[in-house]
Amino acid sequence: MFNLDKLVRPNIKSLKAYSSARDEFKGDAHVFLDANENSLGSPLIKWYNRYPDPLQLKVKEKISTIKKIGIDQIFLGNGSDEPIDLLFRIFCEPGIDEVIICPPTYGMYEVSANINNIHLNRVPLTRSFQLDMPSIEEAINPNTKIIWICSPNNPTGNSIDREDIEMIINNFDGIVVIDEAYINFARQKSFLPDLGDYQNLVVLQTLSKAWGLAALRMGMAFASTEIVSYLNKVKPPYNISEPVQELALKALGEVGQVNDMIKVIVELRGELEQALRNLQIVKKVYPSDANFVLTEVTAAKDIYNYLVSKGIVVRDRSNVVLCEGCLRLTVGTQKENESLIQALKTFQS
Ligand SMILES: *Cc1c(COP(=O)(O)O)cnc(C)c1O
Repeated sequence: MFNLDKLVRPNIKSLKAYSSARDEFKGDAHVFLDANENSLGSPLIKWYNRYPDPLQLKVKEKISTIKKIGIDQIFLGNGSDEPIDLLFRIFCEPGIDEVIICPPTYGMYEVSANINNIHLNRVPLTRSFQLDMPSIEEAINPNTKIIWICSPNNPTGNSIDREDIEMIINNFDGIVVIDEAYINFARQKSFLPDLGDYQNLVVLQTLSKAWGLAALRMGMAFASTEIVSYLNKVKPPYNISEPVQELALKALGEVGQVNDMIKVIVELRGELEQALRNLQIVKKVYPSDANFVLTEVTAAKDIYNYLVSKGIVVRDRSNVVLCEGCLRLTVGTQKENESLIQALKTFQS
C-alpha cells in the first residue's frame, strides 16, 4: 500500500518551513514595512522593489486552465531541475535510500542523485528503448523510493509504452516520476489527466522546449496536493523571480502560437528524418516523439567534428550506453536542417 507519510524523510516531515513576510500577512494594506524591502522604489520597474509571490498564484491559475488541473496540484520550479532535486531531498535519505533510472536517459537524475548521495540503481532500457520490466521488478527493494521514467525519452526520442508505465505506477509503493519535457511533440498522450487516479505519481513538464522559453527557467511538477505541499515546504521561498512570473504569464496567453510552432516542428522532424534516411553515412534513424532525432552514423566522432568545422553543433551520444555510434540532432529551422543535411552530404570518411 502506498503511504506518503511513511515515504517522506522524517526531517522533512517535521520540518518547520521558512515563513516569509508574504506568508505571515495576506490581506489588504497600503503600507508595507514588513519585509525590509527598499520603500523608495527600484532602478527598474516600480514594483521590483517588492518580493514576488512565493506561490506564483497568477501563473498557476493560467496553467491550471490550460492543463485542466487544480492549482494546488501544480508546483513551479527554476527549470525542471529544481523539482528533480527537491524530490530527492524530500523522499531519499542520503547514504541509505535508492532510486531507479533507466539509461540511456536524461543526465540530471544521476547528477541530482550524486549531489544528494543517493544510490542509483541503473536498469538499462531494452534494445528497443523500452522499460525492462522484469529487471525493474528485480531491482526494487525496500529502500527504493523513486523510479524515474522519461517519456518521450532523451536521448532516444521514443515514448515509453503506456501499459508498462501504468503497471509500475499501480504496483510500486514509492514515487513514480514521469518526465514529460517533450510531451507536446509526442503521439502518446500525457499522464496529466490520470493524476487523480494515482497518489504516487509526479509528472514533470517544462517551458523550456515546446514553449520556447529555455532562458526563462520554469519547470512544472504536477502531483497530488500532498506531494505539492512537500515541494512547497522544501523549496527556497522566492524560487521564481517576479520578471519570470510576469513573462511566463504573458507567454501562457499565447497557446495558439505555441501550438502552431509545435505543428511546424513536428513537420520539420518528419522531413529531417526522411532526409537523413537518404544519406550514405546514416545507418539508422530512430523514430522520434520529441523535437530531436537520434541517428546512428558510420563514424559518429568524425562526423561530429566535421560538423563543428562547418559551424554546426550536434550532440555526440556515441559514448552513451545503447547509443553507440549515435548523434542526437535537434530539429532546427528549415534552413538550419538544410545546412545540416548539406554538410552531412559532403562528409568524406
Ligand atoms: C530539456 C529537458 C528538461 C528540461 O529541463 P529544464 O530545467 O526545465 O530546462 C527536463 N527533462 C528532460 C528529459 C529534458 O530533456
